[in-house]
This record gives sequence, C-alpha cells and structure tokens, in this order.
Amino acid sequence: MSKKEKLTTASGRPYFENEDSMTAGSKGPILLQDYYLHEKLAHFNRERLPERVVHAKGTGAFGTFKVTNELTKYTKAKIFSKIGNECRVFVRFSTVGGEKGSADTERDPRGFAVKFYTEDGNWDLVGNNTPVFFIKDPKKFPDFVHTQKRDPKTNLKSPTMMWDYWSLNPESLHQVMILFSDRGTPNGYRFMNGYGSHTFSMINSANEMVWVKFHFKTMQGNKTFNASQAEELKATDPDYAQRDFVKAIDKGEFPKWALKIQVMTEEDAKKFRWNPFDVTKVWSHKDFPLIDAGIMELNEIPVNYHADVEQAAFAPSHVVDGIGLSPDKLLQGRIFAYPDAHRYRLGANYEQIPVNRPISPMHHHQRDGMMNINGNGEDNPNYFPNSFDNIEADKSYKESPLVMYSNIADTYDRNENDDDHFTQPGDLYRKVMTVEQRDNTISNIVGAMSGIAGSKKDEIIQRQLSLYYKVDNDLALNIAKGLNFNFKS
Ligand code: NDP
Repeated sequence: MSKKEKLTTASGRPYFENEDSMTAGSKGPILLQDYYLHEKLAHFNRERLPERVVHAKGTGAFGTFKVTNELTKYTKAKIFSKIGNECRVFVRFSTVGGEKGSADTERDPRGFAVKFYTEDGNWDLVGNNTPVFFIKDPKKFPDFVHTQKRDPKTNLKSPTMMWDYWSLNPESLHQVMILFSDRGTPNGYRFMNGYGSHTFSMINSANEMVWVKFHFKTMQGNKTFNASQAEELKATDPDYAQRDFVKAIDKGEFPKWALKIQVMTEEDAKKFRWNPFDVTKVWSHKDFPLIDAGIMELNEIPVNYHADVEQAAFAPSHVVDGIGLSPDKLLQGRIFAYPDAHRYRLGANYEQIPVNRPISPMHHHQRDGMMNINGNGEDNPNYFPNSFDNIEADKSYKESPLVMYSNIADTYDRNENDDDHFTQPGDLYRKVMTVEQRDNTISNIVGAMSGIAGSKKDEIIQRQLSLYYKVDNDLALNIAKGLNFNFKS
C-alpha cells in the first residue's frame, strides 16, 4: 500500500472527519460552521461543465503523428518539412446529436477532432467520419441541430422533425445518404475514417497557395454495424465505443490512421464542376488523388477523463503557418462558433487548460479573466505599443491574399451548380456501394422514415422520395415500396 496521505480541505488544511457532519450534540441538527461539509456539497453541485450542445458524448486519447511524406512543395508548415518529423496529438471522438448519456451506436455522424501540438502552435483538424456535411451555410446550423434534438413538446427525438427538415433542405442529401448507409453506425471509433471535410489551403515558402482536403484513413480497415446489431448494442452496451477504444489501447493495440491530402490548384478550382468550397461536395479521388502525409497512432488514454477529454477544446481557427482557411462558408462560421462555445463552456482562458495549451511559447497582451492560471503575464505590460517588452508582429507570417470571386459584398445567392445535390449521392449509391450496402441503406431509410407521423406525414414522405428519385429512380421506388407508400414520381 502506498504511503498514507492526510485528508485536507481544498485550501490545504488537514481535516479530521470525512463522513460524520458536525452536529449540536449527538442527536441535534448540523452546525453551520461545518465548512468541510459545505465545501464538499458545494463543489459537488458544480461538478458539471455545461454539456456540449453537439458532440456531448465522446472519448479521447493522446498519441503521435509522424510525417511520411515531405510536403514542402505545398506547405511551409514546419511539421511537414521532412519525413520523420513527429508531434504529439490529442484526439476526441464523439457522437453528435445525443446527450452525454446517450448510446454509442446511435445512427449519427461521429466527431473526429485532432489537435496537433506543433512547434508552430496548435493545429486542430476538427472534422467528422464523413467527408461532407448536411448544410453549407452556418446560418442554418441551429435550425438543423434542433431537428436532431428533442421535440419541444414531447421531449422525444422526432423522425418527423428530422425528415421534414431534410426534405426541405435538399443540400443535406449527400450526407443523409452516407448517414443511412452502414457507415452511419460504425463499429466503435477505431474502424472508421476521419475527414477534415472543409476545403483548407496550404501555403509554401514561396507564398504559393493550393486548396487542400484532409483525409484520415483507418489502418484497421472499415468496420460497421448493421441496423439490428447497432440497435441491440444500444440496450446491451450503450458505452460500446468508449469501452472498445479504451480496452484496445490498454491492451497495447494502438489504432492508427494514415493522413492523406487532396490538392487543388487555383486553376483547377476555376474549372471544377461544383463550388470547391461547398462542404456538401467531395473532390473525386480520380481527379484529385490522395497524397500521403503521415501516420497518426493513438497510444495513451488520459489518466483523468474530465481533465483532458471533457475540457478539450478544438477549433478550426487553430491553424499554423503554412496551413490556412478557405472561403468555405461553413468553415467561416465555425471559425467563430467553436472558440465562442469554448469561452462559454470553459471560460475566456480555456487555452491555458493543459490539454489545450500549446507547447510553443505564447506572447500577447491578453490578461485577466476567470481561471487565469499561467502567471497572467507576470509584471510585463498588458498593453501595446509599449516601451518595455519586445513583442512584435512578424510580417513574414502574413498569408498570400485570397482571390475574390466577386467584388459585391451583399450577395446571398448560391454558386454555380449549387442546386446539384444529386450527382454525388448518386455516384456513391451506384458506383461505390455494393448490392448489400445498397439494400441495407434502403432498409435503414425505410426504418427511419417509418417514424414520420402527424398531419404532414404524407407530404413529408412524398417530398423526401422526390429528392431520392433525383438521386436514383430505383432507390426512391424501393424506399416507397418498403414504406408501402403511393409515391407520385
Ligand atoms: P472512389 O471510388 O475513389 O472513393 C469512394 C470513397 O467512398 C472511398 O473513400 C470509400 O472509403 C468511401 N466509401 C465507401 N462506402 C462509403 C459509404 N457508405 N459512405 C461514405 N463513404 C464511403 O470514388 P470518388 O472519389 O469518385 O467518389 C465517389 C463517391 O464516393 C462520392 O460521390 C462520395 O459520395 C463518396 N466518397 C468520396 C470521397 C472523396 O473524398 N472523393 C470520400 C468518401 C466518400 P474507403 O476507401 O475507406 O472504403
């Protein structure tokens, strides 16, 4: 047994009693002066951080990222300057729509958030296990997420809300197609790919820029559950993904992913059939082949879940020199929304929490605020310019200017071919899925759409089937058959 430690209060005073409260005599009421009791109860009341509105249930691990291909042609990011470069990473996987206690095998996209602790600062790739998303404009996000949460009256999940919204928002079709394939119920977190989803940019030392997409390919192979396996696990092991992940790492079976990039030049972007910054579209691998970048291995479960997993804060705005943003509208919205969520959930100094803290030095004039724990700049000036410190902005870090596609600031219109929400889900259905995967997708959709209820039921089903009809006639007709619905094509 390890050496005994003395029980103390949070302020460090050794304390004599941990279970019996101080009372007025042996049978009397508790005394207000039992400050140890107050401290214990009051802290307990404050144990929960506000639950993340999305991605509430998750798991995480530390690991390493090792570069396998020099990418200096595309980026001046130091991490990619030579083969063999390494950095530590922290990854959080999650489901999206459910609460913290929800089941791990729900049909849902999976969050796939990676923090690279590089010598140039933290680089976060905050993506999902799907290469696309349901919406392409951040203004739609609260509406969309409300449909995935609980009905305002019944407080139940509502297939009617979900399909009403999806059928009125055809740009969701591509993601909905993936979600209702068996990739919507992955076998835990080890056997799925991750995608940066958005278009990002890379800038090399000559300040030349290319557009980039990031893919993490699972090296364990893709494994999914069918609907009945996923349904059964909801009852028998709602924490399946957490258990599988922690157990594998504890046994020394460290999961690995190969990071790959796709590159599109500005010239290619002008010729691309769709808007290259539309997050509901992929770039075909045939036209934009995957290029090796590195290998990520996860090998260390944090010793304290709350300290690292619950307090982890990822943001797409955390990019490093040589890796930049793009005009992808959803990305632009997330640049605001993620740090804003962290400031609400963890406070203005959330980047001082160890799991979020960069390994590179920080020099700025931000000071004070709740939970400031890093010395707060000590006695250095908290204003700029000043005559005392030597912090200066280094202009060499300026990125090359973005090409503007229009000089009008008040346009709300969509881009060319923006209404084509059908070609890519059609390619997935016809060219990528096997017959068995197609059959499962149809039966998964039929199962979910069977839950649509109420006075608008037929209208919603007809509208969604019309969208599926544009993806693939047989797909729509088979779903209609499964629903026993008289579809008017
Ligand atoms: P490819 O045949 O080169 O690639 C197909 C991709 O689809 C592979 O990455 C594969 O992942 C992935 N995949 C297989 N089954 C599913 C599924 N049920 N849900 C989601 N992804 C799946 O084709 P293209 O690049 O020409 O793209 C064709 C279609 O494939 C696209 O319209 C899109 O729907 C889908 N897709 C394309 C991706 C891309 O970045 N180009 C990425 C993911 C999907 P794996 O290799 O791990 O099996």
